[in-house]
Amino acid sequence: MKTREDWEKSASAMTFDGRAVINGVRVTTENTSADISPVTAKSLAEVSECGQREVDQAVASSRAAFDNSWSRMSPGSRKSALHKLSELILSNADELALLDVLDMGKPISDATTIDIPGSAAILNFYAEAIDKVSGEIPVTDPGNVALVRRVPLGVVGAVVPWNYPLEMAIWKLGPALAAGNTVVLKPAEQSPLSSLRLAELALEAGLPEGTLNVVTGQGETTGAAIGLHNDIDVLTFTGSTQVGKYFMKYSGNSNMKQVWLECGGKSPNLVFADTTNLEEAAEFAARAIFFNQGEVCSANSRLLVEKSVAEKFTELVVNQAKKIKLGNPLDPETTMGPLVDRNQTGRVADFIASGSDSAQLAHGGSRLTIDGSDCYIEPTIFKNVPLQSSIASDEIFGPVLSIISFETEAEAISIANNSIYGLAASVWTSNLSRAHRVSDALHAGTVSVNTVDALGMNIPFGGFKQSGFGRDLSLHALDKFTGLKTTWIRYEN
Ligand code: NAD
Repeated sequence: MKTREDWEKSASAMTFDGRAVINGVRVTTENTSADISPVTAKSLAEVSECGQREVDQAVASSRAAFDNSWSRMSPGSRKSALHKLSELILSNADELALLDVLDMGKPISDATTIDIPGSAAILNFYAEAIDKVSGEIPVTDPGNVALVRRVPLGVVGAVVPWNYPLEMAIWKLGPALAAGNTVVLKPAEQSPLSSLRLAELALEAGLPEGTLNVVTGQGETTGAAIGLHNDIDVLTFTGSTQVGKYFMKYSGNSNMKQVWLECGGKSPNLVFADTTNLEEAAEFAARAIFFNQGEVCSANSRLLVEKSVAEKFTELVVNQAKKIKLGNPLDPETTMGPLVDRNQTGRVADFIASGSDSAQLAHGGSRLTIDGSDCYIEPTIFKNVPLQSSIASDEIFGPVLSIISFETEAEAISIANNSIYGLAASVWTSNLSRAHRVSDALHAGTVSVNTVDALGMNIPFGGFKQSGFGRDLSLHALDKFTGLKTTWIRYEN
């Protein structure tokens, strides 16, 4: 196994290219901005600030690739190109993992075991779907036949966040490309490097120029130019609820393009006193909030515990938090790295300060400086959290857990559903009827029972309410990137 020194040596030997990739080439832009690593507190690269001109060029290039090459290639050729891209992700795994770790701070052990192999596997899943999903021939009167096919929509604008830089991009690219669309991808300004490298690997894999363009820059400029573009046919966005709402406006203010949103969450984890193994439930509860520094849209950030076991369960979760190894993410022993940047760290620290005024701090709460970066926040647990406090209702997107106790099943359901979000929820109980009853009553895209944050690439992922709409992963994701087209033929009977 590689040591921290090995990873640091590899990282220092790397060169970082922050130039956008448009129509198969790296481009230079008038303006650039520094990509600061939360691991080293230093700039990794100057990254292109793509303006209207570059976004126009990228869209024109993706339109040409859609019209002339990618959507016209045989399904077999598209399938092998995507499989090849998946292989290239694996053969460049260490480099891609390092790019994500240095850009946003996740532990190298997670990037190498989850993000990179997961991205490759998801691409393979959609590559295989290309020749396995067929249309329909519905019943019609004699002398008529109606062929109903799913056809690609054209140019997809994909705007993604920084918490899983490569994997969030792949969640969009897999189904969009498999369906025959071309894509203009905008990674988050905090984590552009793996997407830019992916665009080069896509060319190497045989995807025609323009099939995947990667434009970098700020949300308010580059992201808005994508949202408002009149020659983009569908927008797929993952990010905050606030920005998700902008995308709906962008569509209405331009060409009424389709919009699919995967947004925020404040997912509840309900622990009933009849849970068979409270130790195990506590281990999962800690993982459900502290994994990936708590920067997970479906993080179980509200822990609802039945009053009779609340004190004991809080202690068990605190014991789990104590086992977390906060440190430099290039150390394979590290289980929690820095937050993505100083802005986000300051935001989370503000939530902790406000939590300290309204609730009781049970663990953590400090901001730390490690190896020159002050982007580290201890795993933090608040107990006796009042329902009306901001730490009970706002998405913090950091390692902060709010524990709330309840007395009855009905009260637990009511607290859980009292949120603008509806992404995920978890339930712990040994009572089968309760498991079904509570899961039915929870308004969430995925309810995990006696586990947390259950996820599979063949299972739809997404939320209700202001967590968004449309589903990522599974064959259902293909629906977002295709339209139903009917060809109705009347013939002599
Ligand atoms: P964000 O909304 O700030 O940014 C997401 C993307 O949108 C980035 O690429 C950003 O540049 C762009 N953007 C920002 N402002 C924009 C604007 N005005 N116009 C156009 N584009 C704009 O989110 P973030 O901070 O990168 O990520 C955290 C958020 O993402 C959290 O709310 C989290 O819950 C959510 N998220 C959701 C899922 C999910 O599947 N539901 C997954 C991961 C993250």
